[in-house]
Amino acid sequence: MNKSTDKKIPCPKCGHQQEFKLWTTIDTYSDPKMRDAVLSQSIFSYKCDECGYAAPLNYPCVYNDPKNKRVFYVFPNYKDEQLQALDNEQTQKMLDDGYVFRVVRSGNELAEKIVIFDHDLDDRVVELCKLYMVRELKKQRPDFTVMSAYYNYGKEGHLVVVFDEHGKGVTAPLPEDMYEQMKGSFAEYLEDYPFEEELVVDVKWAVEALKASQPDNNK
Ligand SMILES: [Zn+2]
Repeated sequence: MNKSTDKKIPCPKCGHQQEFKLWTTIDTYSDPKMRDAVLSQSIFSYKCDECGYAAPLNYPCVYNDPKNKRVFYVFPNYKDEQLQALDNEQTQKMLDDGYVFRVVRSGNELAEKIVIFDHDLDDRVVELCKLYMVRELKKQRPDFTVMSAYYNYGKEGHLVVVFDEHGKGVTAPLPEDMYEQMKGSFAEYLEDYPFEEELVVDVKWAVEALKASQPDNNK
């Protein structure tokens, strides 16, 4: 079941106190429309009625998709203890039942996970592809300051959007060849860190995988 709580949040620009609905539990089984609300980011978008200031608003929430056996947690600025707390009997039971868990930091990252999983991709491989593509972009465009990169799916298929510090995005296709090649190159590492057992799969995860797989480059 979906759970939400209304909270007064002051506008960072003008200080106007405005009520915002924080969705603490999102359950796509009881309300499939909530998936769209995440993908459109409408439930993570703050807009001030007074001055019009708009910004993403990230807050802790649980995204539960029982049909596909997925649970994604949004923990902005999480601490290790929060991850450790998830290591409990209930989680273990669900893991045994075939559930996959992930922890992300923002509404955007949550939307990205949903799209990745919905396209039957392995988010570990996607992160490796993103890392490779970001490094290639930096080589080609040294002037472009990379702030974030997200997988998405568009008319042309798999793609990655890379944003700079002004929120300007560069979109590049993610070829299936690259995905398969990456999967093959990192097969050993991927086996050591199984898809079902990972909790946080992000750019840091990909950097670690790269370091571990190419120890000679880090001398
Ligand atoms: Zn305002």
